[in-house]
Amino acid sequence: LVGEILAVGTELLLGQIVDTNSAYLSRRLAEIGVDVFFKSCVGDNVRRVESTLQLALSRSDLVIMTGGLGPTDDDVTVSAVADVLGRKLVYSAEVNRDIVRYFRRLGRQPTDNNRKQAMVIEGCAIIRNEVGTAPGQIIEDAGKIVVLVPGVPREMTAMIEGSVIPYLKQKMQSAGGAVIRSRVLRVAGIGESALVAEIEDILSSQTNPTIAPYASDGLIDLRITAKAPDDASAQQMIDTVAQSIRDRLGTLIYGEGSETLAEVVGGLLSETGQTIALAESCTGGFLGKLITDVPGSSRYFLGGVVTYSNESKSKLLGVEPGTLDRYGAVSRQTAIAMALGVKRLFGSSVSVSVTGLAGPGGATASKPVGLVYGAVACNGSLSAVRLLLNGGRDQIRTRASIAVLNLLRRVLEASPSAGTGSGEGRSGDLRW
Ligand code: ATP
Repeated sequence: LVGEILAVGTELLLGQIVDTNSAYLSRRLAEIGVDVFFKSCVGDNVRRVESTLQLALSRSDLVIMTGGLGPTDDDVTVSAVADVLGRKLVYSAEVNRDIVRYFRRLGRQPTDNNRKQAMVIEGCAIIRNEVGTAPGQIIEDAGKIVVLVPGVPREMTAMIEGSVIPYLKQKMQSAGGAVIRSRVLRVAGIGESALVAEIEDILSSQTNPTIAPYASDGLIDLRITAKAPDDASAQQMIDTVAQSIRDRLGTLIYGEGSETLAEVVGGLLSETGQTIALAESCTGGFLGKLITDVPGSSRYFLGGVVTYSNESKSKLLGVEPGTLDRYGAVSRQTAIAMALGVKRLFGSSVSVSVTGLAGPGGATASKPVGLVYGAVACNGSLSAVRLLLNGGRDQIRTRASIAVLNLLRRVLEASPSAGTGSGEGRSGDLRW
């Protein structure tokens, strides 16, 4: 199946909004094996929407249009599609009921304009809108498929995930095509080229499933994609390759699918009933943001402090001025003292610290920009890490937060229950 994406909206052309819908649609179509050769963007002008749609239908089997389904006069998508396909607009009582119900929930009355949204293309399959007013529509016409979804990303993704993807998978399968399934293994604690070298033989010997690495901010996703006659065989093929990668990479793999590092850490803390506190310096609170991105993190996250100055490190965390003088704020000793100090301050069972040089200035001969130390205090043991990170200020701060979160994960995985170890335990350098 060859698919094409057509984003409608003058504000997209003017650069007032970024067309994130098309990027999302491209990704999802690729994942289910639809080839996308063209994407277009057109303003809210009925003639231009019509000619762009005609061109798209002349070269693709499937056209997904996003935007322009609203109730106002500049929302032209539905009438343009009706014109191009030579179909009438018909009133849908079902859609009208949904719209009335939607407004009643908000304690409001629909306007005449909203009733326009109950007019759909004759012969379409309606995709109900649970979170807005405009319905989605799927129209099959002379061997082509046109899909209309709203521009509002939340409404669009709900329809694509709930209706359009299942519909397209079904179509491709009944057309005798193979199913395409994929799974993502998530990797942390190793650079992309080192990872590729580590699994070179597995990567190069595979054509089905394929394995593709995607790196961002020091984390790498390995997407395994299999093509097979049915779902069970595709899953089986993926299982085999995933197992060989897991055997090779071990604890470098932190999760699967869309699971984040902070969710994995949250799960480990919750399971063992532990609590955590953070002491941050160069990351300025970003580590706390990552931890609290996870809903329900209040169960284990007690709080954190951003101790940016030497004074605050001493005053709030009890870092000895002597330690700061002798080793500096960016040192293993300071990181450890910060972790111990914040653990005392919050009375948590686990604590994490991070201190480093995000640049661009401030480097010395012995302390380059990107030098970061992190420490984890957990169950009477201490783990510390020294990192040398590349990139600009933002990238260093993001990567530092992620690297320290990964250190925490590895410590928790190695000693999930309370009361073991003592003194300064593991303390090493992680490659990054
Ligand atoms: P609704 O009827 O639910 O308002 P619509 O189909 O009329 O949906 P538009 O009016 O085109 O949608 O856009 C509504 C909003 O959705 C825009 O202001 C913009 O914030 C967002 N949006 C629209 N198109 C895109 C896109 N391609 N990528 C990201 N956001 C978009």
